[in-house]
Amino acid sequence: MGARFPRPMLTQSQLAELLEEQGQPSYRGAQILDWIYKKRARSWEEMSNLPPALRSALAEQYPLRPLTHTLTKGSEDTTRKFLLQLPDQRYIETVLIPASPALYGEKSDRHTLCVSSQVGCAYGCKFCASGLDGFTRNLTAAEIVSQIILAEELSGEKVNNLVFMGMGEPLANFTNLSNALQMVTSDWGLKIGARRITVSTSGLVPQIKKLAELPQQIRLAISLHGPDDVTREKIMPVNKKYPVAELFDALRIWNSKKNQKITLEYILIDGINASPEQAGILAKRARSIRAKVNLIPYNTVEGLPWVRPNDEDCLRFKKVLTNAGVSATLRLEKGHDINAACGQLRLKKEQGTL
Ligand code: SF4
Repeated sequence: MGARFPRPMLTQSQLAELLEEQGQPSYRGAQILDWIYKKRARSWEEMSNLPPALRSALAEQYPLRPLTHTLTKGSEDTTRKFLLQLPDQRYIETVLIPASPALYGEKSDRHTLCVSSQVGCAYGCKFCASGLDGFTRNLTAAEIVSQIILAEELSGEKVNNLVFMGMGEPLANFTNLSNALQMVTSDWGLKIGARRITVSTSGLVPQIKKLAELPQQIRLAISLHGPDDVTREKIMPVNKKYPVAELFDALRIWNSKKNQKITLEYILIDGINASPEQAGILAKRARSIRAKVNLIPYNTVEGLPWVRPNDEDCLRFKKVLTNAGVSATLRLEKGHDINAACGQLRLKKEQGTL
């Protein structure tokens, strides 16, 4: 094998192309995909229907499993965070959310996995620990998909709902994200239904338009957190580049291509974005694109100054939305911090405080 075979987890067409370049028959691609995704081989050696020479050449150059499990926090009944180490010794987190209560407050039997898409993040949203250390690198498609395979092995549960809400801005890693989406949704891959996959973004307008062109009927969630430019800029620096009006124009394009309701994520922060007036503006925005709103009372992040509003203020905010005909969910229980603040575990590990 030459050095042009970059890693084992490729899309079906990439794999076919590379095997052809190596003078291997095309059916080897299907065999390798079957071993990786269906039989869940842990080593090249297990792939008994590949010629031994091919197996050892692959084993020499490409680790089949790019992630190493380092630590689990949480238990079966709660959210479990897995800290995973990458080949370059960096860390990422993957979070498994229990079947019930599920995301967005609906009871369900879903096993939701929240995956990371980058090491660190360049977007610096003010409520989020992932941006505190800046951006290091994109995850490869293989590193994204391996989080699912590893989480299933560690938990013994089948992941049937996937959210790209972990560390990183998935749309800033667009090529690897779209390749990972192919691996996750295809019959030759993990076969998770596209409708059970949510990509969450801070609002990168050009990439939202590109994502709308992908064939998969995935869901889209927007980290909105402010209904107007003045409010949103206090929380989301990305708003300077892509203001609210431009973002909503892109969301209208999304609506014209996909038939899934958009979710607007909105962390309620006392004195910043949680007034009834701001709820009124949010209601108009949400109605204009027929979106639902997921309200998340702020949870304290070490090193950040903001405060959670009291429960009455949260409920009053929600009522403004529902009175305007907008579907809104609000969870007042404390301790469900994974939606609001990803990357805390990894940050502690890298700072040596874990
Ligand atoms: S919320 Fe997402 S986009 Fe914003 S800093 Fe955190 S990881 Fe980056």
